[in-house]
Amino acid sequence: MASQAQKRVNAVVSRLIPPLLLGVTIYASYAVTKPLCIDYLIHPLPSYNRGSRVGAGAAILAIYYVLLIPMVVTYLRLYYYVLWNPGYLPLGAQRLQDDENEKHSKRSHPKRRRRRGSSRKAPDPEKTQQPEEDVERGVLASAGNDPYQLDFSGLEKFYSKDVFVCQEDGRPPWCTTCCIFKPDRSHHCRELGRCVRKMDHFCPWVGGVVSETSFKFFIQFVFYTTLYCSFTLIVLAYFTAELRRQTGGANPHWCVCIGLAALFGFFAAGMTLSSVQMALFNVTTIENLNRHSVTLDNRLSVGPNLPNGLLPPATPSTPDRPQADASTGEKHVFAILHTLPGENPFDLGSPFKNVQQVMGYSIADWFLPIKQSPCADHSSMESDFALGPVVTRLKQEAGLVPHENGNGATTQSAT
Ligand SMILES: [Zn+2]
Repeated sequence: MASQAQKRVNAVVSRLIPPLLLGVTIYASYAVTKPLCIDYLIHPLPSYNRGSRVGAGAAILAIYYVLLIPMVVTYLRLYYYVLWNPGYLPLGAQRLQDDENEKHSKRSHPKRRRRRGSSRKAPDPEKTQQPEEDVERGVLASAGNDPYQLDFSGLEKFYSKDVFVCQEDGRPPWCTTCCIFKPDRSHHCRELGRCVRKMDHFCPWVGGVVSETSFKFFIQFVFYTTLYCSFTLIVLAYFTAELRRQTGGANPHWCVCIGLAALFGFFAAGMTLSSVQMALFNVTTIENLNRHSVTLDNRLSVGPNLPNGLLPPATPSTPDRPQADASTGEKHVFAILHTLPGENPFDLGSPFKNVQQVMGYSIADWFLPIKQSPCADHSSMESDFALGPVVTRLKQEAGLVPHENGNGATTQSAT
């Protein structure tokens, strides 16, 4: 877990960076507009001792501001979503109760400091300094040898889906800090202390977490920033070289902007490449860290009866069945199927389809920061996220769907 000091540093940095970026952009706009385009190209100062180049100056100004606008708009869109719709999962009842108790305790004893979650029997990850993964292990694992009563409400919504990622006991992963079962691809953000849907990374540049609601706008922002910085760098470097050749001098504003454009452009280009790569493989930056070694347990609805040879979910110490759809009363029987190490059940099998899940289905969606990513829609009753060929193969191996070669279903153990 991040220490409190780290969290404070992150909070301060994330508040400082947006105005810093604004200041840098205003300064670069000034350097390109006044010292370069007006004072050097359109109406050259007498000290330059050269003729006017109105066409070049006007063209550079036009292209510069055409590139600046999408960068600013995508940043504002990204910032808005990071601030107002970051994709947090709601806190569990136990966590809300603990927070309420903590507030009450602070009011009663202003000088007495209490640690969050200290009333819970579960080990507090902040207290034990365990690695973050411990926060995200299953119910039984997180309880250790001291099983404790959890609020099991919330499981119904998982059982209404046909497929979800689960622990070995058949339940979804449990977050001991937020006290909730975690939907597919959600991750506990240490900096914010909240579970976030399809969290990609904590981004100090926008002062928050980039997740399924904002990843598309993040890609657009770093892409447009790369274009903007590249253009600014090339133009200023070209005219700086020209000025040095002709007069032996240099304009300090241009030189500073060359440094800034190189720095931010290099960073943005790297982020663009890595983000597009994540979208192509349909993984988040966090999932990508251990993508080649992790085996996922997937709990699949198999209909009213379990086919021969399939393993039912292990019976947990606290019953979480019957797993019936509250609206229809229909009972689901689930089986646990294991992916192979490194397999991604959400990879749709085609880089183009994967990118569409993030960027949208039309060219306009890809380049305009208007619509949300299709992957942020969780209305499907099959699963939280679209499933790819890995799940189809698991179903075929388990005899839940016929093989494509027409041999019919072959029932076999999924383990
Ligand atoms: Zn959490």
